[in-house]
Amino acid sequence: MRISFEIFPPKPGEPTDALWAALDPIAALAPAYISVTYGAGGTTQDRSLDTVRHLATTSSMPAAGHLTCVSRSREEVDQAVHDYLDAGASRIVALRGDPPGGPGTAFAPHPRGYASGAELVAGIRRFSDVAISVSAYPEGHPEARSRASDLDALAAKVDAGASEALTQFFFDNDDYLRYVARAQARGIEIPIVAGIMPIQDFTQLSRFAARCGARIPERIARRFDGLDHDESTRRLVAANVAAEQVLGLVEAGITDFHFYTMNRPDLAYSLCRLLDLHPGRRAMSSISTFAPTGSVATPTVVRAGNGAENFVA
Ligand code: FAD
Repeated sequence: MRISFEIFPPKPGEPTDALWAALDPIAALAPAYISVTYGAGGTTQDRSLDTVRHLATTSSMPAAGHLTCVSRSREEVDQAVHDYLDAGASRIVALRGDPPGGPGTAFAPHPRGYASGAELVAGIRRFSDVAISVSAYPEGHPEARSRASDLDALAAKVDAGASEALTQFFFDNDDYLRYVARAQARGIEIPIVAGIMPIQDFTQLSRFAARCGARIPERIARRFDGLDHDESTRRLVAANVAAEQVLGLVEAGITDFHFYTMNRPDLAYSLCRLLDLHPGRRAMSSISTFAPTGSVATPTVVRAGNGAENFVA
């Protein structure tokens, strides 16, 4: 089992003690890394860097910095990568970013900037062999001309030197399993890590999901219906929905998970307990590949870490 978590940099003046305290139990699970997001258009560049530095210097968890190329020249973006590495980042999550006009508008790169995630990965590879995560979209990116061109964009990032892909959150496991099968059929061999978003606020998430092109199935929407003002029931439902999803993926042979915490890592932590991860039985590094049969992937899982546990299922 290999797990990682995403947080966003705390807002200026916001107390941070509660966030660091909530990450303590997660540190005991020895996650692969904690990634720190980058505000659209680079609005949080300094805070993202400070947060990565804080994690790298005060916690045992490896830190990863997200980066986009929106409205930045190649030199500025390269400098931001160097800054992350100097701050102790062990991984870069390399993204093109949303168009400055917002999702749905055309992406216009900086005149001397990187124009895509693939160009950014190639740019970083010119001066660093740091681990690079890139994005993947089980339901297709909103700008994708077709499913095939979307996979071409992922393949271009792999060819440029990406180490792993993190998926956009999804709620129908079959979307993910079919996507991984198609990616493997396309010759993509890097891990495509399932991005899991526990639903903290259904109304807010529905708006966000619509912008990202992520579908919330009706059966899930119904469970949150009428719970806007009932936080305790909402959290119970959210925990159950996320547990059902994660355990369904485990049953399908999936071992790698990236949790979107929205800076409330307690729900993600409880999911890890369901995965039987606890300080006595910590996450291990793993390599997962998938051998598709028919339209849905049949996973072949090779675990690395403890040699005795290597197996092919
Ligand atoms: P790319 O991979 O370059 O392209 C995205 C899609 O556009 C492709 O899949 C493809 O369908 C299409 N496309 C691109 N170029 C071409 C081409 N030449 N020909 C045909 N089609 C093309 N945003 C932030 O601002 N900050 C963050 O911290 C952040 N973190 C993220 C983390 C993850 C795991 C994910 C999945 C997304 C994240 N995003 C973040 C959102 C991301 O910036 C947006 O989805 C953005 O619109 C695309 O960036 P990308 O790197 O996926 O772009």
